[in-house]
Amino acid sequence: MDTPNKFTRLAILGSTGSIGTQTLDVVEHSGGQYRISVLAAGSRVDDLISQAIKFKPQLAIIARRDLAGILADALSPYGIETASGPEALAEAVTREDVDMVVTATVGFSGLLPTVNAIMAGKDIALANKETLVVAGSLINRLLKQSSSRIYPVDSEHSAIAQCLVGEDPESVHRLIITASGGPFRSWPARRIAEATAKDALKHPNWSMGAKITIDSATMLNKAFEIIEAHYLFGIAPERIRAVVHPQSIVHSMVEFKDGAIKAQLGVPDMHLPIAYALGCGKRLGCISPRLKLSDIYTMTFEEPDIKRFPAITLAQYALERGGNTSCIINGANEIANAAFINGKIGFNDIYKCIVNIIDSVEFVEHPTLEDLLETDRKARHKASEYISSL
Ligand code: NAD
Ligand code: MG
Repeated sequence: MDTPNKFTRLAILGSTGSIGTQTLDVVEHSGGQYRISVLAAGSRVDDLISQAIKFKPQLAIIARRDLAGILADALSPYGIETASGPEALAEAVTREDVDMVVTATVGFSGLLPTVNAIMAGKDIALANKETLVVAGSLINRLLKQSSSRIYPVDSEHSAIAQCLVGEDPESVHRLIITASGGPFRSWPARRIAEATAKDALKHPNWSMGAKITIDSATMLNKAFEIIEAHYLFGIAPERIRAVVHPQSIVHSMVEFKDGAIKAQLGVPDMHLPIAYALGCGKRLGCISPRLKLSDIYTMTFEEPDIKRFPAITLAQYALERGGNTSCIINGANEIANAAFINGKIGFNDIYKCIVNIIDSVEFVEHPTLEDLLETDRKARHKASEYISSL
């Protein structure tokens, strides 16, 4: 990254969430390597106000418009500019005082700011995997015409990026993405069918936002990560496999032509992959707890059970069918995931909702940005209709 300053100026989208707050931890421990130009959140206005008073950005944005007044009143005495609404997030990433954008909002909301950031030549620390799920081909096309680079925050993709350093891309045989298996890994199918949101929100290893925690329980998160890896590393879908590793110590692996397998190990803590992305592949200091090898009694690996967790098969399906398929899947999932959290549908209805609406949204082989916005809108509408019919 070319920056005339000694420090990198960040826009953090989703600053009050799990990734957002951990990004601010990394900034705080970086010894002044980063400055915050923009902080943006969805609805947690009180948290955003505290963060803004502490980190003194030029601009603080709240996506929910009805909270604009509260934000402005609280931050104007500090001389901090404020704005509201999704378009304010999308505009803020192009500001002259932003070198890198951290995309840590949830779901489809990550797409437009990322597109704008790429068009403005800003580097991106990408946590919002849904951006690559819904628009991987489009994002890669835009990257080819831009100086912008994407640094993955997702722990699996950070691990793969670390394993690929110094390697010839031609020598990669396959990517092995590890999965914890989620809270229902050892549950029988009958018990999973009765699972509540409270059960699904108890992730065994990782502390994350609610939406991704439910996606981990269905294992759709792993399908999304296979799609994400395909677009980030240019590896064919049939050469990306997922393996269940309940201890979450090996964050992912790369197997090379000669049979060698490289892995990245660490405690399940997102500070390290966030710091690796902010450093554009250079290592910052350690703020995660260090992994003590003497504490690891066993590391096990097993095949994912596609009967109990069929959502994992949607990666292969979406990449083979191509076009706007994964955008349809994502839109349906966002509605079904939220409906499950709100107790409106059962756990297995999430997958049923997705597969039931795939064919009801028009297939577009080479979707433009407008096509994807329309696909997302239709998928959400069809998913809501399906859920009402249950
Ligand atoms: P979270 O729910 O904890 O936080 C989300 C943040 O985004 C909050 O600040 C919220 O206010 C904001 N937000 C949500 N919707 C928004 C909208 N429409 N417009 C503007 N702001 C909005 O979520 P999280 O767990 O931090 O996940 C963020 C992203 O990172 C997701 O795409 C997730 O898949 C990805 N990710 C998270 C983890 C993790 O450990 N949490 C790991 C890998 C990838
Ligand atoms: Mg992950």
